[in-house]
Amino acid sequence: MYKAPGRSQRTGITLFQLLGMFPDEEAAERWFEAQRWPTGERACPKCGCMRTSRVESRKPMPFWCRDCRSYFSLKTGTVMADSNLSLRTWALGIYLMATNLKGVSSMKLHRDLGVSQPTAWFMAQRLREGLPFATEKMEGIVEVDETYVGGKESNKHFRKKLHVVGGTQGKATVMGAKERGGKVFARPLGWEPGETLAGFVHETVEAGETVYTDDHGAYRSLKNTYRHASVKHSVSEYVNGQAHTNGIESFWALLKRGYHGTFHKMSRKHLHRYVTEFAARHNLRSLDTLEQMQVMARSMEGRRIKYRELIV
Ligand SMILES: [Zn+2]
Repeated sequence: MYKAPGRSQRTGITLFQLLGMFPDEEAAERWFEAQRWPTGERACPKCGCMRTSRVESRKPMPFWCRDCRSYFSLKTGTVMADSNLSLRTWALGIYLMATNLKGVSSMKLHRDLGVSQPTAWFMAQRLREGLPFATEKMEGIVEVDETYVGGKESNKHFRKKLHVVGGTQGKATVMGAKERGGKVFARPLGWEPGETLAGFVHETVEAGETVYTDDHGAYRSLKNTYRHASVKHSVSEYVNGQAHTNGIESFWALLKRGYHGTFHKMSRKHLHRYVTEFAARHNLRSLDTLEQMQVMARSMEGRRIKYRELIV
């Protein structure tokens, strides 16, 4: 668990510095290459072997694997796969996603990067798909809370299809856990059929740790596995000794500012990606902007998302 340093300790970068880093496509290529193969040893994205070479003509692609006899580029095997956008465009997209605390809309990418709006939308979804997320179970004091996101119109068809449970007035339930002073993990509930609030906690928090929640009845069983205390939100109690959920609630506040201020809506189908975007920014918040961009570029590898997976 890390401690987030104060704002003053983080170093941002100016647009001048950013454009100085990526003056042309070649510079962007060098940057992505340094993130992906920091030791200079290239691994083939298809077979994993190291016997690869640079193709001087760059045709059809800049790298070639001698073992599986296939060509690859810096985009192969990442969320950028098969994209016609320049690496420079991707680098600037990473910057925008890292630095816009209330989220980056496809309209902003469209305007700032000069790509069409549909392309910008696809790019934003791919960037979200490539973001790092917390994979280790949480320890120490963990605040768990649920919130409701979504418009007024209820989409019964969708709810039925994805087994979204617990929502009110057509809203989706989003579950979140936050290590006190540390990372956040959040995602829509019902991503897996039959998932419960308590089930989310078991999956996210190490057994035996301290868990604080509100007094929702669904959390009652947690006392069997955790040191569990709750605050009675239903009677307007917000702090019960050390037990409060103010940290995760601040996270919800930011998510909702993004919802209302940036996106206006987050479709159910893509809600998990928007939530991941906010959690990733939270979890990287103690790093300098440049480090955030590096982490994001590295985590794009091994993920893949196709346009038809997004639209069907
Ligand atoms: Zn290979």
